[in-house]
Amino acid sequence: MTDVSTDQTNKEHGVRPPGDLNPRPDPALDFPDRPFGSLTRQDYEVLGFMSGLEVHQQLLTESKLFCRCPAGRRVTRVDAEVLRHMRPTLSELGEYDGTALMEFKTRKEIVYLLERGSVCTYEMDDTPPFEIDPEAVASAIEIALLLDLDLVSELHVMRKQYLDGSIPTGFQRTAMVGLTGTIPFRVPELGVDRALRIRQLSLEEDSCREVSDVGHRITFRTDRLGMPLTETVTEPEFQTPQEVQAGARLIARVVRTTGKVRRGAGAARQDVNVSVAGGRRVEIKGVHHHRGLPLLVHLEAFRQLNLLRVKAALTDRSIDPSALVVGEGGLPWESSDLIADVGGTLRHTSLVPLRHAVERGETVAAVRLPGFVGLLAHPTQPGRDFGYELAERVRVIACPRERHFFAHSDPGSRGPSEAEWREVRRAVRATADDAVVLVWAPRDDAATAAREVVLRAREAFDGIPAETRQAHRDGTTGFERILPGPDRMYPDTDTPPLPVADRLVAEIRVDLPETPWHRAVRYVALGLTEQHALRLADAPWADLFDAVAPAATVAPRVATAFARRLPRYRRRGVPARAHAAERIALLVRALEAGTVRLEATEAVLDDLAAAPSADADTILARYRRDDDDVARFEAALADVAKAARHMNGRSPTTLMRWGMGQLMPAFLGRLDPAVVRGRLSDVVSAAAHGSAR
Ligand SMILES: [Zn+2]
Repeated sequence: MTDVSTDQTNKEHGVRPPGDLNPRPDPALDFPDRPFGSLTRQDYEVLGFMSGLEVHQQLLTESKLFCRCPAGRRVTRVDAEVLRHMRPTLSELGEYDGTALMEFKTRKEIVYLLERGSVCTYEMDDTPPFEIDPEAVASAIEIALLLDLDLVSELHVMRKQYLDGSIPTGFQRTAMVGLTGTIPFRVPELGVDRALRIRQLSLEEDSCREVSDVGHRITFRTDRLGMPLTETVTEPEFQTPQEVQAGARLIARVVRTTGKVRRGAGAARQDVNVSVAGGRRVEIKGVHHHRGLPLLVHLEAFRQLNLLRVKAALTDRSIDPSALVVGEGGLPWESSDLIADVGGTLRHTSLVPLRHAVERGETVAAVRLPGFVGLLAHPTQPGRDFGYELAERVRVIACPRERHFFAHSDPGSRGPSEAEWREVRRAVRATADDAVVLVWAPRDDAATAAREVVLRAREAFDGIPAETRQAHRDGTTGFERILPGPDRMYPDTDTPPLPVADRLVAEIRVDLPETPWHRAVRYVALGLTEQHALRLADAPWADLFDAVAPAATVAPRVATAFARRLPRYRRRGVPARAHAAERIALLVRALEAGTVRLEATEAVLDDLAAAPSADADTILARYRRDDDDVARFEAALADVAKAARHMNGRSPTTLMRWGMGQLMPAFLGRLDPAVVRGRLSDVVSAAAHGSAR
């Protein structure tokens, strides 16, 4: 089904971004293992930490990018199923494309679930693409301008190879929109104040939603397939895991200011590239949340450091990688002296999942790894050892159906008994220096598995395999696939180049929304601290703040009150009309005029929230200064003084607190609390003298 020939490869467009290897070759092998959160900026510098982001954002368009199917429809109905096999012939595999080879090895059956209303023959590669969606192009240009990118003069649609089945055609159509921009990157709480360089922005088609992936069958829904999204790629300049998170948030903020992007689950996803000194760029795919990003990239940095320690140990032991070879054809236990079929030996094993596998007639392969003793137990991530790296490779490529399919001879692995291990070791002629891995699966899968164990073990001599990984909830990652080779892009002959009209760009430029950093500058001019200004610029109520336009005299107070109260009201489900701009504006004008004092701001907001339909001016009147406030206060103070004289033995602090509680609510917004406190203090000390007498 898939054309993976590379003869049309356009080197100019297909070159893998530079820096696959971390520029620093010296790993910090002696770096002490310390928990996440205790590392400083300097520590990450010592590690040679490097990270960049690829932020994917679905656009809010009516249609998909290259056909007229509706975008953004999430369906569960299935009108038809299409079954496909990845069947590239060997000559088509390209010379060294690890991804193509890997996908071929998995022997996956790919099932697409189709729903009539959300997919047509275009997505299934039966009809050529329609004209690119103009709405999506305009939105992408707008985002590119906000990111300060140089726009291309013509959109050239390219095909990017996608061999995991998530795009039925085997390629994604993608068009570069802009290149090389810089945006201000200011995060006071992280001590960051510099420019963030954006490498490029592309407009692309989204892939399918995966429904399940069991054994050799993977199932996709096609509703999301072909929806337009932008991909923003940063330079790999983030220096700490916290900066990665801040950068992802910044880009999300910029693209959202357009109001032309989708929100909600899966609408924004990022890939994170991470490496450390001596390591190699590893891509963690499809991270949905910003919250988990710092731990995720921190753990990846340490996984790389640990793999480099394994590599160093192999070098110290003078192990020869050329011992780790296994032929491609036939059954590896018949041709390799590293591998043996040990099903017979383990027929009665105490390890239940293994015994069941033997009973089902599956093959149990033992793989000897010369000189690896102890290294499979080497920690890589929290709760994971180097053996897990091998097991993950087997899980993804050999596709065993059962959860437990792997054991190794080092401590910490759930495997057969000591005595059974001795038998297994004898079968593969393992010495005390060797480690042994057991994998069990149906015969063909076991053959694939045994080969993968050898291949992955051999990559340990290189340090970090070039791969993409998937994020787990706990911040650890698992193997996903071999990182695609550099020859991934080639021109799409179905779509003519589309000139980007100057007039269109000019129209978009005139209407460009305010960027978060421009907004923050405006708020700083209103007297907000920079930190508060940046936070407000990012807040969902920034538009409300702008609509009520507080003067500099009251702006910081209003911003603080919004930040304290509005998220709370939202959580409680207070209707938005409670805080309509015209209601809040009455309060802000009163604050500016000084007819309501600033201390009453939150109280007025609370009252407005409690009575969304009540007249706002009536609510405000409760706090508005009045001519008889002073007279009323004197009377109230006299009452408090009288009562205080009968509260024998209470401390002045207690009396003050009680007194303020008696007086202040009635005069909030009307009288200066400091004045009230001063007058009350006189009364309290008089009462104390009285009781002392
Ligand atoms: Zn369609």
